[in-house]
Formats: sequence, structure tokens, C-alpha cells
Amino acid sequence: MTDEVGVSGRVYSCPCAAGCGGSCAAWNAPNLWEKPSGQVGEIQMGGSECEAVLLRFPGEDAALLADLNEKKLLEILRDRYREHRIYTYVGDILIAVNPFQDLPLYSPEVSDKFGSQPLGSLPPHIFAVADRAYNSLQGNPGKLSQNQCVVISGDSGAGKTESTKLLLKHLVRRSRGNLQLGQQILQVNPLLEAFGNAQTVMNPNSSRFGKYIQLRFRDGAVRGAKINEYLLEKSRVSHQDPGEKNFHIFYSMLCGIPEQEKQVYGLLQPSLYRYIGSEWEDVESRECVESYQRVCNAMRMVGFQEQEELDLKVILSGVLSLGNVMFEPQENGGVRVSPTAMGWLKAAAGQFGVQEEELLSCLTCTLSMTRGESIRRLHSQQQAEDSRDSIARVVYSRLFGWIVCKINELLAGDMDMGKELQEIGILDIFGFENFSVNRFEQLCINLANEQLQNFFNHHIFLMEEQHYKEEGLEREAVAFSNNQATLELFLARPWGILSLLDEQSSFPQASDVSFVEKLNTTYRENPLYERGRGCDPAFTIHHYAGKVKYCAEGFLEKNRDTLPTNINHLFINSVTSLISILFTANISRTGTLTPQQRAKVKVSQEKGPSRKISVGAQFRHSLAVLMEKMYAAEPHFIRCIKPNSLNEPSLLETQTVLNQLRYNGLMETLRIRRDGFSWRPSFQDFVRRFGILLLTPEIELSRESCVRIAEKVQLTGWHCGKSRLFFKYWHQDQLQQCLVKLR
Ligand code: ADP
Ligand code: MG
Repeated sequence: MTDEVGVSGRVYSCPCAAGCGGSCAAWNAPNLWEKPSGQVGEIQMGGSECEAVLLRFPGEDAALLADLNEKKLLEILRDRYREHRIYTYVGDILIAVNPFQDLPLYSPEVSDKFGSQPLGSLPPHIFAVADRAYNSLQGNPGKLSQNQCVVISGDSGAGKTESTKLLLKHLVRRSRGNLQLGQQILQVNPLLEAFGNAQTVMNPNSSRFGKYIQLRFRDGAVRGAKINEYLLEKSRVSHQDPGEKNFHIFYSMLCGIPEQEKQVYGLLQPSLYRYIGSEWEDVESRECVESYQRVCNAMRMVGFQEQEELDLKVILSGVLSLGNVMFEPQENGGVRVSPTAMGWLKAAAGQFGVQEEELLSCLTCTLSMTRGESIRRLHSQQQAEDSRDSIARVVYSRLFGWIVCKINELLAGDMDMGKELQEIGILDIFGFENFSVNRFEQLCINLANEQLQNFFNHHIFLMEEQHYKEEGLEREAVAFSNNQATLELFLARPWGILSLLDEQSSFPQASDVSFVEKLNTTYRENPLYERGRGCDPAFTIHHYAGKVKYCAEGFLEKNRDTLPTNINHLFINSVTSLISILFTANISRTGTLTPQQRAKVKVSQEKGPSRKISVGAQFRHSLAVLMEKMYAAEPHFIRCIKPNSLNEPSLLETQTVLNQLRYNGLMETLRIRRDGFSWRPSFQDFVRRFGILLLTPEIELSRESCVRIAEKVQLTGWHCGKSRLFFKYWHQDQLQQCLVKLR
């Protein structure tokens, strides 16, 4: 009978663990409890009243299936997906398959139901993961509370950002606390998405930055939040590949600002702007107007001041104007602004609050100091255009950074100093990328993914080993594909890729070609590295998720991220106060500058540039800080799966899903779980549940009783640890069969 509906005879104790006989709250959730017939899960009474058991819907936890393999997991996911059951567990990892349609799974009622039921009593759900993190934060009896982190991974369009929003929504709802703060935290999303998301060929609302959100709690209530952003794809400001668009905010601003107000910002017809013009036609204007309203509301709700909002729009308009500045060569060398584009230069200078001639000079020449003498080098047309685009990109990325700082200031909440706050971190970062052309950006993203995979391995595999050791079990090491060597290839000092890139970036005469030559000689013997073939500088790295060929063109320049000389100086002195703030290093980017601060910055700027940190080094640092936080926390993993590449509902392409299962480590996890001891009850729990098999009235909840029980039913291949027992997944089924026979 159990085989019909349960998982190979597997039965679950009622989570209330109180012998409810089917009367406790966990059983009374008919809407949420799954069974093929759609009825409440079946209850059997055992020999003692403690044995109300529940038969779970097959496949809810794939790790429990006796004969689980790749094909089977795929079938389970497909069958469940067909019935809109998008969530499935593999052990304690949650798999979420993107439904590409709105499902009635996230209403406040459902949220409340999850909050009030014992963990594990409801079907797999993202809210259950949030609850697990939230409950662990409070600390279990006998266990100190620990910070938590939820790692969400998956391809672009797999549903990471939606999952993040759902987690936040549920956590804010669950944690009674400052209502206004809770609302502000949720309002931050439209703002971040407007500035940080864009349409790509993979996802019409793709996040072009990574983020780690830290929700801070005290006594179970949300007290504040902090957002850390990573790797905003700023190249998108000045260039978009076919089928892709610029950041959402440009389109919603151009559609949403009323005509008469546009003059204030110096905004003209949308189709005139080069940075967005070519993709303007298919912009859905009604949608844009609505999204503009949402952004404005969000800004007010989060607490931006009117002047800040005004400056922000003027600066965005300045970025667009700057993009239209075109150059032409001059007879006597150098370039000048094309006569038809003079108006755009004037507009941009006005919008950025600087002198037109000074902006022009930043665009058309480079000033350098050699032996105390200032030397002026005229730009070629290409150099002038590069300067223009790099100014646009840096302005936009600093604006984004400022918005995040501003949000953090406002969400800091009432964090009483001196009192420890507990934290749940949620990581929503780009998945592994392997395009037809992979650049410096992909290298950084894939390095981050290597680091996350390493973190995942650490928890799933190394912790497993550690656990065996602590319990005194002699076991061979758990075999898994450790990516430590790949991480070292990137991060080792002084010979790792990032170090060599920094070394080359500091030589003025070095080039992308000499960088790749250096890699070729350094990693001649390294099996994870392959030289590029063909004449372009390129190289291939064996990542955990497959080989990626990187095109090294532009690596040095992107790593150096040099700004046109004097641009800092020019912008610090801007009359647009926000521009000045964006370019003021070492002073809180959120504050306004006092005249003294301004003077101080001016002096330090005039003393000459301080040594700039490379993009690679900055990224290495922020990754290290992130990993330190995550290693100190208890992790929860959500693996998002994109069911098809068309973003269609109800369509699951086998190969697409299989590829994702392979390279996000799920198949490997399954194998380890299966080969390892997946069921580890404590002595007490084991005797409580199976003591009846000894057929004696009084049984001690001890190690000895456990051994007696296991020997009585002739289990083989299990182990007895110091505080618990270690069983293979099938032992539980064997024991259950014995219970059934007894009845
Ligand atoms: P990612 O962040 O992984 O790139 P998103 O979270 O932006 O992907 O999801 C892409 C799209 O998929 C969303 O815009 C939404 O339309 C859809 N989607 C994702 N998760 C869900 C969900 N749980 N329910 C309904 N639609 C979803
Ligand atoms: Mg996203």
C-alpha cells in the first residue's frame, strides 16, 4: 500500500513528533498538502500512538529515491513541472524550475501558512527555505544561533532574482517589526531593477549586476538591510549587442517624463540618442510610463530628496547627450567635435555642470606629467570616442553605486549600536557564462561562480567528511571534483591570472598579446589551461562547468579602467552637486560636501593621482569579503533551472535541463548523498521510532538499544557514531517494512 503513493515505502513521522494521530496543525493544510488525488496526505496509525505517519508525494525529495539517477531526476522534475509543482528538494537543496507564468503559490495566505506550520510538513517551497533560515537564526534548542545565507544560482533567466524577491517578501512578512522599514526594503527592488536591469536576448528583465542582500534581525524582527552590488555591466551604457537594450531607466525616463518637464533636463526626442536610438522603435511606451511612475514612487518611498532626484535625471540626460558627441580628424593632427554635434557637447557640459571647453579638452587630449612638465597629447578619433564612452560609463556606474549607498543609508534602520544583530544574506549573482565571445567581464563572472562552486563543495562534501570524522567513523575520503586548483589558477599570488594581469597592466608597453604570452609560458604545464589557437590573443580555461575560451582583447584596458586625465578634477568641481559627490573619493558618497571637504579633495587631486586599484584587484577583494561572510554563515542552496530557452510556460526541454543539472553540481550531490550515509538519526529519535521492534515494554533511549534494534532486524552496512547512527537511504525502508509486518 505504501508503495502506491509513498516513496518506496518510505514514511515520514508527523513533524509534530508528539503522537498527534493526525490531529495536529501539520495535517490540516489540505490546500498545501500534495497527493495524486489532491487529498490530504494519508495517515496510518502504528502500534503506538506516536506513529502517525504521512506518505509524501513521490519525488518531493528526490534524494530519498532508492534508484535515483540523472534520468530519473529529470523525469521527476518534468512530471512535477507538468502539474505546476515547480519546487523539488534534493536533500536540503531546493530546485526551482521557472514556471514562466504566474502561479498562485505566493499569496499572503500561503506565506502565513508556511510561517505557522512545522518545517517539513508542507510541500517543497521557497518559503520553506526562508523559514528554515529564519528559524535557524533564532537558534535551535542547545544550539547557538548563527548567521544564515541563501545562495541562489542558475542561468540567466532561470529565476534567481524573482526567487530573491520572494524570499525577501516572505521574510519581511514573517518578521514582525518596523512595518515602514519592511515596505522600504521591498520598494528597493523596482529602483535597483530600473538602474541595474536591461533587456537581453536571454531575459527581457535581466539583472546586469550581482547582489548580496543582508537582512538584519533582532529578536526575530527586521531591523535593517544592506545591499552589496557586484560588477555592474557598465559597458552596456555605451554599447548593446543586437537584440539587447540599454538599462531600463533610460527608456522609462524618456517615456515617463511629461513633455513640458523634459526641458528642465534638456531631454529631446528619444530616437535622437545614439546610446538607445537603434532599439527605440519596439519600446512599449505604456509599460515604460508605468515603470517610470514606479521608480519615482520608489525613490520617494525609499527617501530620496527632491534635489537628488532632479540631479539624478539631469545626469542621466547628460549621459545621453554625451553619447551623441561625434568627432572628426583635423588637418593639423588631433580631432575636433563635428560641427553638427557641437550642440550635444554644450548640452552635456550643461547637464554635468562643467565648462564646455574643459569637457572638450578631456575628450580630445591627454595630459601627463613627466619630470614636472605637463605634456599634452592629442587624441586620435578612436581615442576621443573611447574617452567619451568611458566618461559615460563611469558616470553611470558611479550613479548606480551612489543609489545603492543611498539605499543602504536609508535602510540602515534602528541598529542599536553595541547590540549584536543576526543576519540572513541572500546572494543573487550571475550564473556561469560561456558565450561565443567571452571577455574580461565573463572571466570575472566565471571566477565568482568557481568560488561559489567551491563554497558549495565545501559544504556538501567536505562537511560530510568532517561530520564522519567528528563522529569517529573511519571512512574513505568522499570523492568529488574539487575545483580548488582552478581557483588557484585565478587567485594565486604571484603567479595567478589576476596577479599576472595586474603585473602586465602596470607596464605601459605591455599589451593583450604580451599578457597572453605570459600566461602561455607560466601555465605551460597546467592541465587547466590551454593556449588559444589562431592569431587573436585568446586562451581557454577548464572551468568546473566546462571549457571557456576567452578573447583577451581589451583585458588590460578593462583591468586598468583608466579615465581620461583630469576628468576627476573637472567633475569634482561641477556645479551639479550630485556629480561632484560621485567623483569625490574617500568621502561618503551619500553625503553632501561641505566647502572644507571640497577644498581638501581639490588639494589632494592637484597633488597628482594616487595609485589606482585595478578592476581585477577590486573584484578579488570584494569576492574575498563576501566569501568570508558566507563561510561564517549557515548556508541554504537554491538551484534555479530554466526549463526552455524560449521563456515559454509549460515547456520543459530535456537537454536544456540536463545540462544545468550537470554543471550546477546537482548530479554530483546526488551521487555523494547516495554513496554516503544520508539518514542520520540521533539515538533517542531512533529508539523512539523503532524501539517497538524489540517487543519489550521498557526501552532506554540509548546507544545500546539502537545497536540491539539494528541487530534484531539484521541491518548491514550501517555505522554507529558518537552521538548518532549512520544509515544508507535504504535502511529506513527496511526498518519500515519491519514495522509494517509487526502490525
Ligand atoms: P534571473 O535573475 O535568473 O536571470 P529572473 O528572476 O529575472 O531570472 O526571471 C526571469 C523571468 O522568469 C521573470 O521575469 C519572470 O517572468 C519569470 N519567473 C521567474 N521566476 C518566476 C516565478 N517563481 N513565478 C513566475 N514567473 C517567474
Ligand atoms: Mg537576475
